[in-house]
Amino acid sequence: TEVLLEDLDHVGPATAQKLKDAGFTTIEAIAVASPAELANSAEIGESTAAKIINAARQSADVGGFETGDLVLERRKLVGKLSTGCTEFDEMMGGGIETQSITEMYGEFGSGKTQIAHQLAVNVQLPPEQGGLGGSVIMIDTENTFRPERIAQMVKGISDKHGIEYDPEEFLKNIHVARAFNSNHQILLVDSANELANELKNTEMPVKLLIVDSLTAHFRAEYIGRGTLADRQQKLNKHLHDILRFGDLSNACVVVTNQVMSKPDAFFGDPTKPIGGHILGHTATFRLYIRKSKGEKRIVKLVDSPNLPDGEALISVTTDGIGD
Ligand code: ADP
Ligand code: MG
Repeated sequence: TEVLLEDLDHVGPATAQKLKDAGFTTIEAIAVASPAELANSAEIGESTAAKIINAARQSADVGGFETGDLVLERRKLVGKLSTGCTEFDEMMGGGIETQSITEMYGEFGSGKTQIAHQLAVNVQLPPEQGGLGGSVIMIDTENTFRPERIAQMVKGISDKHGIEYDPEEFLKNIHVARAFNSNHQILLVDSANELANELKNTEMPVKLLIVDSLTAHFRAEYIGRGTLADRQQKLNKHLHDILRFGDLSNACVVVTNQVMSKPDAFFGDPTKPIGGHILGHTATFRLYIRKSKGEKRIVKLVDSPNLPDGEALISVTTDGIGD
């Protein structure tokens, strides 16, 4: 049976409601929160917050340390999502992994949003066809989600698999939210957790979270050296929130990050994605995407905890991402 927030020691009905309103809707979310974060959200003292967190940890069994065999046990649950391109999948050791953040960075027009759309389609397929049989949450910060493009890609996979898929069914499993600024973007992760919880025991649990673009709002809003530390701190927390989402839902997390072709005085080296070191340490897989001839794109695996660096050639056509 499921443990409710109200069942935790030190949590009365009023505190439970405040926690839920602040987005702490599950025991797991509380278990991994910081006392300060919880105290602010629920208007309680930090020592009470710490006690609640402890109670949640005991209940959810998410202590600080894990033995290697338990990590291995959790790793066994890692799913792999096919990109629809053989070389790309091979480079990723089978596909995009769940429980990790995969960052795609590249210039404007390199194909980041196209790949995101394709993954939103592929994830819905059954495992036999490279999917994870799940639905998608997309945080769209640049208003670039296009249902028409999804329909084209569904036609693409219909032709590929010789099965007549219904685009409308695919669109129903893509939950899109526009993020209007960086604070809104951060809050949407809480909504994403709620939605994932609602869909957890349905036929289409959430198996993919896309944040496209992760950094655009942060970049636009935090300009100048003085605000850099503040931006990094916010971005860092945001990244940990989404990584936590991936762990709790055993879902893929794919984020995009645009790099500028022109040098940018505020953000340093133009070939380096913004977010710098913080993003580098949190994003488990980093993919650098660049244009090649015509519809061809080169995807370079820059950083991975367990795979050799490599390059894959993909193509972006009307049918979607392919070999
Ligand atoms: P970004 O990296 O900025 O997100 P996009 O993913 O939006 O870039 O890529 C845009 C490019 O994708 C276009 O320039 C075009 O080459 C390709 N593209 C977009 N839509 C289609 C389509 N319907 N058919 C073929 N190629 C497309
Ligand atoms: Mg884009």
